[in-house]
Amino acid sequence: MTSLVNNPADFPAELLDGFVAANPRHARKVFGGVVRATRSKPGKVSIVVGGGTGHYPAFTGWIGPGLVDGVVCGNIFSSPSASQVYSVAKHADNGGGVLIGFLNYAGDVLHFGLGAERLKADGYNVRSSVVTDDVASASKDEIHKRRGIAGGLAVFKMAGAAAEAGLSLDEVLRVFQKANDNVRTFGVAFSGCTLPGAAEPLFTVPDGMMGVGLGVHGEPGIYETEMGTADDVAALLVNKLVEEAPDGAGKRVVAMLNGLGSAKYEELYVMYNSVERRIREAGLELIEGQVDEFMTSLDMGGVSLTIAWLDDELEGYWNAPCDTPSYHRAELADPPHGDDKVFNTEPEPIQVTTPGSAESQAAGKAIAQGLRAIHNTISENAGMLGDLDAIAGDGDHGIGMTRGSGAAADIAEELAANGGGAQTVLAGAGARWSENAGGASGALWGAALTAAGNVLGDQSAISPEAHADAADAFIEAIIRLGGGQEGEKTMIDAQVPFARALRTAINAGATPADAWREAAQVAVDAAAATADMRPTLGRARVLAERSLGHADPGATSFGLVVTTIAGLLAK
Ligand code: ADP
Ligand code: MG
Repeated sequence: MTSLVNNPADFPAELLDGFVAANPRHARKVFGGVVRATRSKPGKVSIVVGGGTGHYPAFTGWIGPGLVDGVVCGNIFSSPSASQVYSVAKHADNGGGVLIGFLNYAGDVLHFGLGAERLKADGYNVRSSVVTDDVASASKDEIHKRRGIAGGLAVFKMAGAAAEAGLSLDEVLRVFQKANDNVRTFGVAFSGCTLPGAAEPLFTVPDGMMGVGLGVHGEPGIYETEMGTADDVAALLVNKLVEEAPDGAGKRVVAMLNGLGSAKYEELYVMYNSVERRIREAGLELIEGQVDEFMTSLDMGGVSLTIAWLDDELEGYWNAPCDTPSYHRAELADPPHGDDKVFNTEPEPIQVTTPGSAESQAAGKAIAQGLRAIHNTISENAGMLGDLDAIAGDGDHGIGMTRGSGAAADIAEELAANGGGAQTVLAGAGARWSENAGGASGALWGAALTAAGNVLGDQSAISPEAHADAADAFIEAIIRLGGGQEGEKTMIDAQVPFARALRTAINAGATPADAWREAAQVAVDAAAATADMRPTLGRARVLAERSLGHADPGATSFGLVVTTIAGLLAK
């Protein structure tokens, strides 16, 4: 759906006005489209491109030094007229002649061709050429019949750089055509796009399927197939493009992964991971990859991959600077790092520095066991905790606690096996918990476990009093770090009553197992009682009313955790 619309009929005109208003440094409006707002070197060849609207950043997003001089803007998905082409080219002419470039569609060929003829008849020095990068649209034998799609940017970019370098019109035309000969694009679509104001999409792709080679306006593709994984899609696109390598092409390539409209950048980067690996595996030398929206079709779902094979000349033009609203290239202000700089991709290792005493090592093992049991309980209840968090928060409490406790149990087991005492095991567990859990609760749990460990140390046995002291330290850390207090509908509302009950029972002479059993019950009841409270802290604060009648997720998970430990101690 295109949601932000005034009068659908005015959509293309309004979007052009908005574009010009937002980009005064780059673009000026003229009849038929836009031209550069900046003064080029007199005699520089001008490049004028264009086509239908609805493909942003194609084509207006590319106006500016180093790329194109004028953009002719048609209606949504339809070619501009010859008189628009004439007007934009006339305004863009800089005394060096005009190269008119467009994508290979029948309407564009006719209108741009006619516009070029009129310009020539009026004495303008004009050449024109088409982009034919879409390998899905015709066979190798009929390469000139192929449509133009996202690879057009690479072609325009290299021709634009050649023009900027001062080449003559015929030379810029040569670079344009050489670039086009060495650029290939292949795409897939997952869902159709909806024209502004339309109720139904222009075309559809069945759920879970993808249209292979489907055109940017819904032109039929080659076949439909099941979508598969991001890696499957990467394999399909890379394999086809490698097979389509231009005759005599070298090994050096650049890749451009393009989102067609509703593919998310996050998805594109996941897929790019495979694209990059597969291009290298195919024996090509990947100089650079770019991941972005280069040529979209409104809200269409899908991606295309462009590979450009570069020789020295094209590589120079590819790397040349450009400055446009959507596509930039500049010398980096600073040099790259040398080999002296080390980039660690793993978290800092956590090791046992001083082995614990025999008693503390035993405690460390018990703690590791406890963390594993906590992880199991939390995993089993992750769905419930997530649902609770979704009522007024963001729904990630189950996932966060599962990840945090899992990572904590892993490192705790490792440290305990290597002679770590209680403090070492808990400090490692706290560090890994907060690294892996994310969210507010992850940071709080991480700090709390570490604080409890600091009380226990690595040398002494754990006395009954130490249980109560560790619980207090755990909670003090949460209050200190989170700035909360009782009565705000957070985990603190289960934790403070828990610690109090634990202390009372131990002072009265209960064994740790009995004290934990009693205190755990207190925590569970207190967690349940948070249902009647309004949150004033944490994410749920904003939707306080909505959470009435539902227990706080952090308090609920705390109840589960201490019940699990009480169960272990009872054995
Ligand atoms: P996030 O709120 O960042 O998504 P989680 O969903 O994992 O993190 O945890 C939410 C729980 O964290 C809440 O239910 C609440 O118990 C607890 N919480 C949030 N902020 C605080 C705080 N400042 N002090 C104590 N507990 C807090
Ligand atoms: Mg949350």
